[in-house]
Amino acid sequence: MSFPLDKFKELRTPFYYYDTDLLEQTLQAIKAAMLPGSHLHYAVKACANPAVLQLIAKSGAGCDCVSGGEIKACLRAGFKADSIVFAGVGKSDWEIELALQEGIFCFNVESKPELEVIDQLAAAKGRTARVALRINPNVGAHTHANITTGLAENKFGIDMQDMEDVIALAKRLKNVELIGLHFHIGSQILEMDDFEALSKRINELQERLDGIGVSLKHINVGGGLGIDYTDPDKHPIPEFSTYFNTFYKHLSLRAGQQLHFELGRSVVGQCGSLITKVLYVKENAIKKFCIVDAGMTDLIRPALYDAYHRIDNLTSDEAEETYDIVGPICESSDVFVKGYKMPKARRGDLLALRSAGAYGEIMASQYNCRPLPSGYTKKDLLDD
Ligand SMILES: *Cc1c(COP(=O)(O)O)cnc(C)c1O
Repeated sequence: MSFPLDKFKELRTPFYYYDTDLLEQTLQAIKAAMLPGSHLHYAVKACANPAVLQLIAKSGAGCDCVSGGEIKACLRAGFKADSIVFAGVGKSDWEIELALQEGIFCFNVESKPELEVIDQLAAAKGRTARVALRINPNVGAHTHANITTGLAENKFGIDMQDMEDVIALAKRLKNVELIGLHFHIGSQILEMDDFEALSKRINELQERLDGIGVSLKHINVGGGLGIDYTDPDKHPIPEFSTYFNTFYKHLSLRAGQQLHFELGRSVVGQCGSLITKVLYVKENAIKKFCIVDAGMTDLIRPALYDAYHRIDNLTSDEAEETYDIVGPICESSDVFVKGYKMPKARRGDLLALRSAGAYGEIMASQYNCRPLPSGYTKKDLLDD
């Protein structure tokens, strides 16, 4: 990836930079790898930067929201209401009402009481809510424990053994229309075996549906495809065809059934970088600290998930030295990486924390009364 360094030098750090050309290429690669009857709903929680959302909406994708705020952001960015799916274990009444008002495509319902509340709120509005049941498939994902979602111990979804029961309830309720099943097993998944296991579990559940004479038009397999954090320049675009083909190969869809995907990280992860400035290089008896002006408030993934981000020194080509690269926040976990080899750093150098497009800017906080980082796109910087 190349960076517009001259422009960067005029901007206050830290900030997020989105390579919108790479994002467009990624969106094209997704389209090229999807068969007819498949639909992408971009998982907005990965990155809701307005310019990024607008580009994704323009590509024709739908979106996957987990809050009323995300629904509003998506409508502002140009997504069609009837392309929105709405998941989340704790939907508030106002969020459900907003979704009903806007006429979203589908609620991904995570419990019986939620289904009943959606029915009541829809009745009050004289509407019918389309719903899919989010089933917890009890399929493990080979990823960090904090980002598995499809195990019985996780809070998400309806247990498989309760599926028929909840379907019966949905049939009794007058203001909900059951249109599908929904799944999501976790994030940063690179082993296609996990998606194969999910497909096989869905096949079993579909046989149970056949047994009770229920046919559903929509199967939503969620998201979770991972990206290469170690070598983003080698794999700027994830292997979408391998991912989609895993489902096409192992999932037995019924005639006319539509397949839905909710990718987040793999859409936006590689196009974003967090740009930060070196403040000080501090040496003690055992190591060198490279202290930068971005911290865990700007990018929390290393502190929260033990995540690794490649860090490039954009302004030095001197011999490499070994650093702990740390932020200014008053927390010992405010460390981006330890024992990292990088061209010698000096005060004022610009560093890029790579692969930061997903779960980066959107998770920023104001802890320590810090301003939120700005976000710029390649388009913004090259047009002005
Ligand atoms: C977070 C989430 C996604 C997206 O996950 P990625 O790993 O970013 O692809 C999709 N669906 C649901 C329900 C989610 O919560």
